[in-house]
Amino acid sequence: MLVAALVLAAAVAVSATLFAVRVGFLLRLLRAAPSVERTGDVPRRVQNEATIVLGQRKLLQRLGPGLAHAFIFWGFLVLLPTILIALIGAVDKRSTLPWLGHQGWYALLQDIFAVLVLVGVLSALWIRKVQRPRRFEGSHLGEADLILALIATIATTLLLWHACRIALALNEWPRAWSPVSNALSHLFGRDEATRVLERVLVWAHVLTILAFLAYLPRSKHLHIFTAAVNVWFGRTAHRGRLEPLRFDDPDVPEDELRFGAGTAADLNFKELLDTFSCTECGRCQDACPAWATGKVLSPKLVIMGLRDQVLAQDPSALVPQAVPEESVWDCVTCGACVQACPVSIEHIDHIVDLRRHLVMVESSFPAEAEPMLRDVERASNPWGKAQSERADWASALGVRVLEAGEKAPEYLYWVGCASSFDERARRTAESTAKLLQAAGVEFAILGPRESCTGDPARRIGNEYVFQAFAEQNVEVLNDAGATKLVTGCPHCFNTLANEYPDFGGEFEVVHHSELLSQLVSEGRLRPHSNGQAITYHDSCYLARHNDVLEAPRALVAAVGEPVEMHRSRRSTFCCGAGGAHMWMEERGTPINAERVREAAATGADTLAVACPFCTVMLDDGVQGIGSDMRVVDVATLLAEAVEDGPSRPTS
Ligand code: SF4
Ligand code: SF4
Repeated sequence: MLVAALVLAAAVAVSATLFAVRVGFLLRLLRAAPSVERTGDVPRRVQNEATIVLGQRKLLQRLGPGLAHAFIFWGFLVLLPTILIALIGAVDKRSTLPWLGHQGWYALLQDIFAVLVLVGVLSALWIRKVQRPRRFEGSHLGEADLILALIATIATTLLLWHACRIALALNEWPRAWSPVSNALSHLFGRDEATRVLERVLVWAHVLTILAFLAYLPRSKHLHIFTAAVNVWFGRTAHRGRLEPLRFDDPDVPEDELRFGAGTAADLNFKELLDTFSCTECGRCQDACPAWATGKVLSPKLVIMGLRDQVLAQDPSALVPQAVPEESVWDCVTCGACVQACPVSIEHIDHIVDLRRHLVMVESSFPAEAEPMLRDVERASNPWGKAQSERADWASALGVRVLEAGEKAPEYLYWVGCASSFDERARRTAESTAKLLQAAGVEFAILGPRESCTGDPARRIGNEYVFQAFAEQNVEVLNDAGATKLVTGCPHCFNTLANEYPDFGGEFEVVHHSELLSQLVSEGRLRPHSNGQAITYHDSCYLARHNDVLEAPRALVAAVGEPVEMHRSRRSTFCCGAGGAHMWMEERGTPINAERVREAAATGADTLAVACPFCTVMLDDGVQGIGSDMRVVDVATLLAEAVEDGPSRPTS
């Protein structure tokens, strides 16, 4: 027994040392990383742990693979104490863990969950080897096979060890508590061979666990330790917000200022933890519109590439060694990857930080985006139009333009650059203004004092320009005494509601669909439905980033017959304009064409939108595929349907 104890102590020491060395290295990296504020909203974080981690909510959205993983994960939790039981049993077969090791009901749980783990492993192997879904392309499949083999060995040796113990009458509880082990025990006699086998199995079980422990932090299954922590530090609110760079932080020496991610050392705490947590499941890649339309970008490969760079302990530049530069520009910041990720990895932060470095340090970005950036800086809008023309659409409608020094009305209508300058998007502004007038809402626009929010500059990586516009706009809005903002642009909505608070702008922001549906429900607008079939396209920045789902649908239902697309609500598919792609060339299959094909498949004549970018992109898409669907904003649909309301806007 003494020899066994010494051998076991040596094996545990080797495994624990290997484990501790690697974990120490990872912790040093995390400690050195710039921090991010993710400590508030504890109830929501606890809820995320309960649902996303313990309940496996996101994984179970795909029932088959989700159950396979859940069985292994829940089995891992339930069987954790068996490690101690086996360690004690390896030294002395007649000893066990105090209390729990003597409980028959725990023997039953061990049997059930060891079998579930094996079912999970076999299902995972079936999915990987037979079904071979595309989402696993690029994953470390050999490593995954090794891990599955180790898990299967642990579960199998546990059951067989228990079976030998039953055959040798070593357990103190009735055999009925261990139905599976008991069935297996009939393979063994009560003889010397079984006595030897019992020793072999418990040692095989223990040594496999110790090997697993030493290997885990060096493998992609590091996520077993980091996933729950990563979920804890995930965003709980303002999902569309980007972390601001602090150019003027007095606490940070000038040579330590971050300008995005150029090297592994630039990744902040959460970004680093993200790279440690990726399971390589490929759910993000499956959801990504860029990947789906043949672009280079795979969000999974971005995270894996960054992790490889981080763990290589190589401080050299991340781009292009870790992530192909082309893929950095393919992203439309739609958030589908973030929503799909079962361990709360926030891919957009990584991609925007890579862009920030390319734009602000390397001056490297797609040439076609250059005019947009120049126009935003020069003319305060990406269309390059004169600010004096910003309110031209409004003059014929008698919309009040709020002058400096005047008291703000109840609502300040933030029109946005697209609805101010783009011919197709302008109709949304006209319809909204007419509806607000018809309902008697007190509102005004800023006219030439409204500037670009800075969103396209921020999403393309020019944080300098964004922050300059953020500060200027916040000052104008605060000086005007604005408290309630209504806007028809989900990108403006996201920036005003989620990002301007970082710059001193605290406003109540509503999307025009929310205010208009409220006016309908209050009876201040009375539309007639003409029964037309309408399919509604959810804007990523409205639905996925900001949870505005029902208000636009209420408007569609008020004027026609809603028909849902295959991908809708938070599972919407991007129009292709986000992340400053409105002003970039697109390689491969156009995303907007993919989306309008899906809309056309519903059989609806009308494709309703609630975003000026979606209006333009999907209208282009409809023309591109030769469809005769009408792409129209919900505000315009409502304006056409309002009883005794404004006349139908002219095309
Ligand atoms: S944000 Fe959208 S486009 Fe960008 S990587 Fe994620 S899923 Fe792909
Ligand atoms: S980033 Fe998330 S969704 Fe994508 S492969 Fe990794 S764990 Fe899966």
